[in-house]
Amino acid sequence: MNRHIAIYPGSFDPFTNGHLDVVQRGLEIFEKVIIAVACNSEKDSLFSTEERVQMITELVADNPRLEVDAFDGLLVDYVVKREARVILRGLRAVTDFEFEFQLAQMNHIVCEQVETLFMMTSPACAYLSSSVVKEVGRLNGDISKFVPPLVHEALKKKFAEG
Ligand code: ADP
Repeated sequence: MNRHIAIYPGSFDPFTNGHLDVVQRGLEIFEKVIIAVACNSEKDSLFSTEERVQMITELVADNPRLEVDAFDGLLVDYVVKREARVILRGLRAVTDFEFEFQLAQMNHIVCEQVETLFMMTSPACAYLSSSVVKEVGRLNGDISKFVPPLVHEALKKKFAEG
């Protein structure tokens, strides 16, 4: 298992500046970060797994230390498959804590070698979530400060489609 690789899993529906912040700071610690898009919540998601993977891939294309992938099933199985040791997650408010705590404990019980590392949100991103971005965007609010330009364009297109 490679301790220099971190898996950053999430829905990323869509990828926000908050996600980007976690990834960039993760790269200060790990040699490689694999952004792993979860396939399981397809039904409720705005973008399909393929769309999300494609968007993020385009976004990070110039960084050879970043990889984008999709995964299905148990996260720990994916982490082991990729020969990584660390799951990287972000924490915003106290409200994130309960869920993340449970998840980290469960993953550690299922697979002892796997550790979850939490990155506290940057104050500038503390209020940012994919759902808030979607909500504001859907109501024609300005979301340009919340997401990378490429994601902004994709969101505008999606909302125009109805
Ligand atoms: P999930 O459905 O797995 O929570 P998300 O795409 O919502 O997927 O989030 C992926 C990870 O990024 C989670 O650990 C989440 O807490 C973290 N995250 C999301 N937005 C921010 C932010 N603004 N600052 C820090 N971490 C964040």
